[in-house]
Amino acid sequence: MVLCAPIMKTMKTTRSAKLFADAQQLIPGGVNSPVRAFRSVGGQPRFIKRAKGARLYDVDGNSYIDYILSWGPMILGHAAPAIIRTIKKAAANGTSYGAPTELEVTLARMINQAFPSMEKVRLVSSGTEAVMSAIRVARGFTKRDNILKFDGCYHGHSDYLLAKAGSGLATLGIPDSLGVPADFAKHTLTVPYNDIRAVQQIIKEQRNTLACIILEPIAGNMGVVPPAQDFLRTLRRLTAENGILLIFDEVISGFRVTYGGAQTLYGITPDLTVLGKIIGGGLPVGAYGGRKEIMDLIAPSGPVYQAGTLSGNPLAVSAGIETLKQLKVRGVYKKLEEKSAALAEGIGQAAKKAGIPLTQTRVGSMLGAFFTSSAVVDWNTAKLSDTKRYGQFFHKMLEQGIYLAPSQFEAAFLSTAHSTSDIEKTIKAAHAAFKSL
Ligand SMILES: *Cc1c(COP(=O)(O)O)cnc(C)c1O
Repeated sequence: MVLCAPIMKTMKTTRSAKLFADAQQLIPGGVNSPVRAFRSVGGQPRFIKRAKGARLYDVDGNSYIDYILSWGPMILGHAAPAIIRTIKKAAANGTSYGAPTELEVTLARMINQAFPSMEKVRLVSSGTEAVMSAIRVARGFTKRDNILKFDGCYHGHSDYLLAKAGSGLATLGIPDSLGVPADFAKHTLTVPYNDIRAVQQIIKEQRNTLACIILEPIAGNMGVVPPAQDFLRTLRRLTAENGILLIFDEVISGFRVTYGGAQTLYGITPDLTVLGKIIGGGLPVGAYGGRKEIMDLIAPSGPVYQAGTLSGNPLAVSAGIETLKQLKVRGVYKKLEEKSAALAEGIGQAAKKAGIPLTQTRVGSMLGAFFTSSAVVDWNTAKLSDTKRYGQFFHKMLEQGIYLAPSQFEAAFLSTAHSTSDIEKTIKAAHAAFKSL
């Protein structure tokens, strides 16, 4: 019997604090991407010095078992030897040419083999860029302007995707960010995730104006929210019937939930797919692709313009190819599944033991845990989560060397580098953290 919660030593964080103060003088909010600043959990971010396997090491010498994995890409863990070797070798041959390479053909072929729906693929430098370009070609192909997205799905930070229409059925999109003209956002209609009736209603009203429906087939940016039974299948049917393109944003789920992503897992073929994160092996890459007749509209084959100085960058593409090779090894996804299931199970038991209501979601190595007893099926139900409590839990875990996302509404990820002992340590830490809430 445990008589008292373990005493938590307070970590030394003086260097991180000093760097954060400096950073705030020079960089907006001190960070180059907002969630890194810990705003939604309070406190100050840790400045990372290096990473290896499942661990991050900060500038004060603290180490953490990492469940962010750079927000998904590091599925092989950090500084995986094969990836580092590949990047070094590629760098020695020059870091960018602005001319085509064999590497790009190889990666495109590997993507096509994993995602047969991506008959043709264009490589870009980020997920944001890939989504933006996929939507442009969807509009070019259908000659329609409006797009439908789902509340709580994130598709990068391009203007018209930073829009949602608030609760209820969408009429006109309202920008979520200052600096986005209402005229741009008005072409973005939004409805709740998993709400097929809302989609049917919009299609009824907007049949001839909708270029595409875009979604994360497994939502990973409002915490993890899996698609309801038949949601994807019904979307596929409705879009096909109405000449609307279906775009799967698999920037997270691609090569994450299984080698062929959510579309393979659920057996649904979208018209266009967007990839990112894992396919760059930790370097900046995005990709979009789909049916030949759509993709052939892209310049120079067709009139839809899209270009990039560093697109298909040899370092990033090499890292991507090597990552995919490692993921192809038999049993990789099975082991990820087993470890993820064990972690989720242990966390669930720890919460239960402490009497903390927790709703868990998981698809493979994408894990969610919401501080609510309600089922989470969309953004409105995700928001029922007690975010203050999440913030407390986050800090209790961080103090014990467990690095979770500094926001309730992000996924936790596992890598092949997480060991059984890492998972046991994490569950033990969770027992202490839940108990202290
Ligand atoms: C991360 C992400 C993006 C944006 O990718 P960036 O590389 O950050 O621009 C787009 N869609 C989804 C689903 C993502 O998770």
